[in-house]
Amino acid sequence: MPNSAAMSRNGLVTEIRTRIRSDPLSSSYDLVGKELGRGKFAVVKKCIEKTTGKQYAAKFLRKRRKGADCRSDILNEIAVLELAAANPHVVALHEVFETSLEIILVLECAAGGEIFNQCVADHDEAFTEKDVMRLVKQILSGVAFLHQNNVVHLDLKPQNVLLTSARPLGDIRIVDFGLSRHMDNITEVREILGTPEYVAPEILNYEPISTATDMWSIGVLTYVMLTGESPFLGDEKQETFLNISQVNVDYSPETFEGISSPAIDFIKTLLVKNPRKRATAEECLNNVWLNSHPHSHPLLLPRSPSNLDEPETSQSESEPESPVPSPELDLIESYLTCPGQGELKAGRDAFSFSEPPLFPTRPEIQQELIC
Ligand code: ADP
Ligand code: MG
Repeated sequence: MPNSAAMSRNGLVTEIRTRIRSDPLSSSYDLVGKELGRGKFAVVKKCIEKTTGKQYAAKFLRKRRKGADCRSDILNEIAVLELAAANPHVVALHEVFETSLEIILVLECAAGGEIFNQCVADHDEAFTEKDVMRLVKQILSGVAFLHQNNVVHLDLKPQNVLLTSARPLGDIRIVDFGLSRHMDNITEVREILGTPEYVAPEILNYEPISTATDMWSIGVLTYVMLTGESPFLGDEKQETFLNISQVNVDYSPETFEGISSPAIDFIKTLLVKNPRKRATAEECLNNVWLNSHPHSHPLLLPRSPSNLDEPETSQSESEPESPVPSPELDLIESYLTCPGQGELKAGRDAFSFSEPPLFPTRPEIQQELIC
């Protein structure tokens, strides 16, 4: 199959070096066990390479979504993975297969799963501040590398930040470059939206995106990793948008019990409305908190694992009929907490932009999610 398409449109890079195999995945890999996860556009399953016995994660991506051809979006995802191959904190791409319906990315397997699970874990399984410092440094290393190469991730959230192992706590692997864009080529932001809770105010305000857009999400991620709470989440999505737009953040001692003040100051350098005033990845790597002597005691947080929704999984080893469970593609997965009840809830909530907005987002946004 041709590796095709040199053209870039709206920040999409579709020129790739990886040879796309057209023989079946099963000729070289055995699918094993249950799903590793699923997202908006993909199902990911564990597989074993027959010749080496090594474990990988096969990400099955449908080429057509809602009747539109999305092959170039997938090529863009491959191109970004190729570009970031030199950074150890971006997941490694091993091989690519293509069938009539799907493109399958064979990725390094991040066996520790999503940091999401530990963000909402019970007290003794939760991250310590020391853990968070190490992991945030690794996230920043990966994101700084992308930014040096003029690439923005645009979907940084706990479901897209994985661990090589959960216990002992391993290292970070950033995944899911489905919304990533090359900054040189972005002409407009209108078709790009991330997940409501992690999305920066400039996206809601229809202003230009930049590398600073990812830095906002890292601020939200750090907040969630330290406190187990989602800083902007409201009962309704419009409330979430309003909280983001007003940078309405709870930095109270109750929420940050047992957490050092340099950690809070670090978050405050990122949750800044003006993107130009937000810390860059390089500045964050030099931040005093990340270069100080870490606290190693567990964070004193009220966490309950009982409310966790298990990720939807299946024992099926066949290739998925439809990898996307959501009935509409303008549904976006998210992460829910209910701090008011003194416990946490994790789930994948559906956010639709097709309802009449209370918050004055532009009406065009309704149709402007990527295919
Ligand atoms: P989507 O674009 O549909 O969100 P992702 O790339 O985020 O797809 O993959 C969906 C989920 O699959 C992730 O949230 C994660 O739980 C799991 N996953 C993805 N890549 C890997 C990997 N390399 N190793 C282990 N699990 C993975
Ligand atoms: Mg994802």
